[in-house]
Amino acid sequence: MNSERLETGKGKIRSLNRRGTRSDKSPPVVRHSRRYKDPSICERCGSIYTAKTWRSGRSLTPEMIEQAVWTICPACEQLDEGQYFGRVSLSGAYLVANLDAIRARIANVERRARFTQPERRLVATDFDGKSLEVLTSSQKLAHRIAREIEKAFGGTVRYAWSDSDGMLTATWSREK
Ligand SMILES: [Zn+2]
Repeated sequence: MNSERLETGKGKIRSLNRRGTRSDKSPPVVRHSRRYKDPSICERCGSIYTAKTWRSGRSLTPEMIEQAVWTICPACEQLDEGQYFGRVSLSGAYLVANLDAIRARIANVERRARFTQPERRLVATDFDGKSLEVLTSSQKLAHRIAREIEKAFGGTVRYAWSDSDGMLTATWSREK
């Protein structure tokens, strides 16, 4: 009796491991070009895929939830992999003095962007005491943040595309 139970336990663990291994080995390209069933729901962020787009804040009928496939949306996959395509680098004495207000404004831009298009979101922010670095999952979001900061706080912005990886870097600074 005891050994039987033990075997069942081991078998379960083994099958879980195998499943984990298989999903880890599937190439990223395949995962990204995967087609989603309509409707799908992201089990991380609650975004809903229907009519070929991912949106957050969509409402679902109980019938749709029953039909929906639970999955991980492209944005959440991207976060897992730490991929980013845009960068906003902010610096200057004004930044340090108004850090909270500037951070709040950035968070606000992201929230609005996420509502219309969950693929656009921040990946990481880092403040080293002098400059604030924001990495975004899309170039468009990096541009939007930089433009919004310039509009709200003045200062100057420069944009540069890197040849090697196509990443957009927006550099904003304001001294006084
Ligand atoms: Zn998601």
